[in-house]
Amino acid sequence: MTTPAVPAVGVDLGTTFSVVARLDQQGRPSTLANAEGDRVTPSVVLFDRDVVVVGKEALKALATEAEHVAECSKRDMGYRVFRKVFEGRQYPPEVIEAWILNKLRCDAAQQIGPFTKVVVTVPAYFDEVRRKATQDAGYMAGFEVLDIINEPTAAAVAFGFQQGFLDQKGSTSEPRRILVYDLGGGTFDVTVMEIRGTQFVALATDGDVRLGGYDWDQRLVDLMAESFIRQHYVDPREDPNTAGKLWRECEDAKRTLSARSKASVACGYRGYSSRVEVSRQQFKEATQDLLDRTRFTTEQTLKAAGLDWADIERVLLVGGSTRMPMVRDMLKQLSGKQPDASVAADEAVAHGAALRAGLLLAESEGRPATFAIKNVNSHSLGVVGADPLTKRRRNGILIPRNTPLPVTAKRTFKTQKADQKSILVQIVEGESPSADDCTQIGQCSVRDLPPNLPAQSPVDVLFRYEPNGRLQVKVTLPGTNRHIKAEIVRENSLSKEHMDGWRRYICGIEPTEYR
Ligand code: AMP
Repeated sequence: MTTPAVPAVGVDLGTTFSVVARLDQQGRPSTLANAEGDRVTPSVVLFDRDVVVVGKEALKALATEAEHVAECSKRDMGYRVFRKVFEGRQYPPEVIEAWILNKLRCDAAQQIGPFTKVVVTVPAYFDEVRRKATQDAGYMAGFEVLDIINEPTAAAVAFGFQQGFLDQKGSTSEPRRILVYDLGGGTFDVTVMEIRGTQFVALATDGDVRLGGYDWDQRLVDLMAESFIRQHYVDPREDPNTAGKLWRECEDAKRTLSARSKASVACGYRGYSSRVEVSRQQFKEATQDLLDRTRFTTEQTLKAAGLDWADIERVLLVGGSTRMPMVRDMLKQLSGKQPDASVAADEAVAHGAALRAGLLLAESEGRPATFAIKNVNSHSLGVVGADPLTKRRRNGILIPRNTPLPVTAKRTFKTQKADQKSILVQIVEGESPSADDCTQIGQCSVRDLPPNLPAQSPVDVLFRYEPNGRLQVKVTLPGTNRHIKAEIVRENSLSKEHMDGWRRYICGIEPTEYR
């Protein structure tokens, strides 16, 4: 693959750490270090009055100024505001993510010169609302987000590149089925993929957007705090700074436990101090249920793909948390195969995103694509209707999960009265029959129906998932070729005006066209 004139940059915007990669002159992905010289940047933001600090220093501040620090904001994506309030101000999570992206952009620009075009990764299990929020964060950080790509798919692309599948010889090779087990800092994804030469086809995907290394850390924090309480009758978690410091120590101890059979954590609070030792076995027992959740989801995904372990050639490990021996042991026992740790757990996702960026830039310059990606939707799309008996809001599924993308589904609605001007359709994502238990995407609002339509006139609403899992709506009147204006009015999304304001504030870059 030859490199386009514009740098091909991929960003893995992780819950706990983020990574930037670019394609070099030979089209090979490589990680760009940040301004501190590190290959990974903590996804942590410190609001120090007027100054916003991102990365390592913000992470350190968790031990002294925890109330000014935003950590794991990716977990809150899709909600209206971040869970913490900073000096009376509540920020949307995508704004906090934009600050992180802005640092990544500025640091990378120091090495490769100014650039705007990037591909950003998202967990495969991210719903449509979170996908849009990620693109919005990119816009507010001064980027032009060429596309979003699912993290396991990006890892599989990096793996395919490393294995030589993207070369000439790769395109003729036998289809290979791999299972990507991606356990990062805050999210868990499992995806079954088929690599058909240069085609990367997702067969099924599942996961949990609130399960990751952070939960393992918390269990260790609880273990330590309970031991501290038994000794000193005070709970170190009461104080945000002590809790922040304890968390950092526990995260470190967790890493030690991946290499050694025991680790110790020091904790001091209210004049008391102690050092508590924890063994790998104790840690495993305290987190068994978390591991079991990933095991259950892995088995379900394999089943959803219509396969069993004999069909899977490799189990690919992605995400820093797959370094925990308990993960590797569980997967080995489950699959009967040694899990494959040949891609760099922390960096493969960013590398895959850079390869995707290279592909899109090459295409825009009229050069042929060297590989292709096919996704499935990770959540079912439904429209809300009232149950005739109970009158409860029901989820009428239109596009079931794991459908190959892009896909379009049509639903015909009837006007209820003569000369009706508008139709509102509530759209949700999720598997539950009850609409209230699903993710509310918003309302599809059809505003300019032609005058004098008789009652019971049919109106066709077309819902289309783009290849990257984003949703579009189109409305037509059957029997006419009239195009009717329709838009998705979102529940938890920032307006373009708000985003423009944030873009100017965060990175000082003027607004551009953005949909
Ligand atoms: P990622 O988002 O893929 O960079 O994963 C970050 C997560 O991996 C964090 O929760 C880290 O604590 C965890 N992690 C990184 N290295 C290790 C290790 N050696 N052992 C256990 N967990 C690790």
